[in-house]
Parts: sequence; structure tokens; C-alpha cells
Amino acid sequence: MHWMPGASLFSPADVARKDFYKTPAELRLMVAPGLATLASLDAVRAAIRPGMTTLELNDVADAAIRARGGVSNFQMVPGYRHTVCASVNDEVVHGIPGERVIQPGDIVSIDSGADVGGWSGDSAITLVVPDATRPELVAARQKLSAVTEASMWHGIARLAVARHLNEVGAAIEEYVESQGEFGILTDYIGHGIGRSMHEEPPVFNYRVRAKGPEVKPGLVVAIEPMVTAGGIDTVVADDEWTVVTADGGMAAHWEHSVAVHRDGIWVLTAADGGASELLPLGVTPVPIR
Ligand code: MG
Ligand code: MG
Repeated sequence: MHWMPGASLFSPADVARKDFYKTPAELRLMVAPGLATLASLDAVRAAIRPGMTTLELNDVADAAIRARGGVSNFQMVPGYRHTVCASVNDEVVHGIPGERVIQPGDIVSIDSGADVGGWSGDSAITLVVPDATRPELVAARQKLSAVTEASMWHGIARLAVARHLNEVGAAIEEYVESQGEFGILTDYIGHGIGRSMHEEPPVFNYRVRAKGPEVKPGLVVAIEPMVTAGGIDTVVADDEWTVVTADGGMAAHWEHSVAVHRDGIWVLTAADGGASELLPLGVTPVPIR
């Protein structure tokens, strides 16, 4: 899940407040919720097929979190009662699981989070359901998802060398711009994460002038670009949750929770800390000790 940027723009007072940096002991406690979150998304990835409802995907994710001793932290968000958000096609984020049936060719973003021992993880993936009858449509949607995912990894790689947090958004935007005609949502942004899923600081997925906080050991952030194949304007559906593109264009969303620690960075919601994607970008993630 996300913050709306208008709700929490950085003020000098926020920058002065350092209490969102975690201690080494706290960082170690964030490993388990990261892996439980990962398990829930792996379970959805393995289960998804045409004919399933988004509620069934939700229940698959919930079982995986519970099997790891966790509970859904999405259910701790006031007014939200599900374990994941399932956003299909022109739905960008915050889709509520329900009776919607997955169709061949759908582009489905699943956003999930686990709380283990009072600490949170938050991660999202986008999946394109195969459709042999529409190869061009599937290829275009896969490209949208791939650009979004790669932009996230470029942002994470920049975090490893950044002095200030706004460098992450710049890296994401540079990459997306290099890939063609895509839009990065500005209505929703990433966030710090710790005891709560949503904490300071805000994490922009695009260039902002304010440098944001210093990137140093103890910073833990959810980096989550939301990218569309068209315009970036969105509207909230009648259910008061689901965010859809105003122009009906397709959307993708990828997210990882990433820790900066004294020895380097570690992607908490990836089994290998992000190594497989970060090594080609010149970054070697280091486990939290
Ligand atoms: Mg999320
Ligand atoms: Mg998030």
C-alpha cells in the first residue's frame, strides 16, 4: 500500500526528525516479516490462473503469511479487511479482492504485507496471465510490467550509493523515460516501513527537488513505482478504494521493502536480498547480521 504524497510532504521538521532510522537489532527483526510477505506473493504467483477470483488469490496469500507465523498488516489499515490488494488491468492499486474472475491476458498487480513479531513487510508484483489468442496484447502488458519492475530495481540500486533519498526517484524516472511512452503515477508514493507498514519518510518514485532524508544505516523504505501505459491521472472507484487510470490505460505496480545497514543494502522481501537483479546493476546486497 501507499501514501498519497499530499498527505505527507517533507517539511524541514520531518528531515530533522531522525527517529525513523532503525537500530541493527531492529533491522534483524524485519527479516522475518519480509520473508513472510515474499512467501505470500510466491504463493499467488504459483496459484494464479484464469477462472480464479481475486478473493481466492487473497486467501492463498493469507494462508502463506499464517504458515510463516505472521498476520496480514493490510488488515491493520483502518477500513481494509483483506490481506492483499488485487488490481486488474486499468486498476492501478488498492483493488479489493472479491468475485472478479481472472481472465486470460489480464495484467494483475498483487500487493501484500505481513506483520511478524510487530514488524512489517510490504511488497507487490505484477503478473500477466497467458493468452495464446492475443500474443501482441500479452507482449505489451509484459513490457509494461517489465519496465515497472526494472525501474524499481534501478531505484533500489541507486539507494545503495545515494546520499539522499530523492536520488531513488530520479533513478526510477530516468529508467522509465528511457523505455518509451510510459507514465509514472504521482498520486501515490512509497514510504518508510518498520513497526507500522506506513512510516516516515515518503519515498517518491519520480524526481523531486527536495533531497529528502540522508541515506544511511537504519533507513528502511518501500520503493514502489506504479507505471501506466498511458496518462497518469487516476480516479477512485465507487468502492472508495480501487484506484483506476482515468484514461482506461493498463497499469503495473512493483514494490520491495529495502533496508540500508552498516554493511550495505538488503532487499527484505526477496529471497536473495535482491542479488539476482542487483548484481547486473553493479550492486552486491549484503545480508543483515
Ligand atoms: Mg504494498
Ligand atoms: Mg507500500
